[in-house]
Amino acid sequence: MSLRIVVTVKYVPDATGDRHFADDLTVDRDDVDGLLSELDEYAVEQALQIAENSDDDVEVTVLTIGPEDAKDALRKALSMGADKAVHVEDDDLHGTDAIGTSLVLAKAIEKAGYDLVISGMASTDGTMGVVPALVAERLGVPQVTLLSEVSVEDGVVKGRRDGDAASEQLEAQLPAIVSVTDQSGEARYPSFKGIMAAKKKPVQSWDLSDLDIEAEEVGLDGAFTKVEAANERPARTAGTIVKDEGEGGKQLAEFLAGQKFI
Ligand SMILES: Cc1cc2nc3c(=O)[nH]c(=O)nc-3n(C[C@H](O)[C@H](O)[C@H](O)COP(=O)(O)OP(=O)(O)OC[C@H]3O[C@@H](n4cnc5c(N)ncnc54)[C@H](O)[C@@H]3O)c2cc1C
Repeated sequence: MSLRIVVTVKYVPDATGDRHFADDLTVDRDDVDGLLSELDEYAVEQALQIAENSDDDVEVTVLTIGPEDAKDALRKALSMGADKAVHVEDDDLHGTDAIGTSLVLAKAIEKAGYDLVISGMASTDGTMGVVPALVAERLGVPQVTLLSEVSVEDGVVKGRRDGDAASEQLEAQLPAIVSVTDQSGEARYPSFKGIMAAKKKPVQSWDLSDLDIEAEEVGLDGAFTKVEAANERPARTAGTIVKDEGEGGKQLAEFLAGQKFI
């Protein structure tokens, strides 16, 4: 038997860098370095563990939608051990929102072929955590989200979702989509051998026409959401220094009350 796993990985702007808005109020992606979303490293790790623990033939494909530089995210996932990669890139994707993103991902997943899709719990930039559910709906397959443990046995994906008061054991018949949390297990570092091997692994590039998607269905025009206004975060101001001359506690409390912290 064989198992085809597709892992959705997002190339995100580095949160430690300065990020700015472009004139059309989208994030200026040319202005900032990017990287593989840390939360998607957990998804890659779970796919690799399923492959390593399986007697079946398992193929792990990593998939991203993003600009040219998003290939860096694919290379990292390939260095970790994924077998091949798909990059969806098209100028008309500029301004695509979560609903458009789910359309493109679903079409690409179908084209790649899959039994199981593994996503992160949320991206580290948009952090909406909605894409896996939207993709499941479009593909018409079960979704089992926010798993901290995941395994596949006899055509069934099983996992544990930890809540505040209880943990649930969940399962779904394949094909299915799951998302995994940052509690699912530390992601491995790419080894030197892995980095060298990744250079030879196949990366396919698709645009919207390869996926039978019209430009109007995505991008800013096709988006269901619209950013009306955005402001840069104000520059940091000097802090308030309270010198304790016997009244420090009172002054501290007054300061916190003034800021509505207490
Ligand atoms: C070039 C470009 C321009 C964009 N412009 C805008 C914009 O102007 N406005 C806007 O609202 N959105 C825009 N987006 C889409 C946005 O970056 C998000 O991908 C989308 O809104 C999903 O929201 P999220 O990141 O919060 O996803 P979440 O729901 O938090 O993501 C959950 C999981 O879904 C998967 N996933 C999400 N996005 C991708 C992806 N791109 N590729 C592969 N897997 C993914 C990952 O596994 C992730 O862990 C743009 C995307 C691209 C590539």
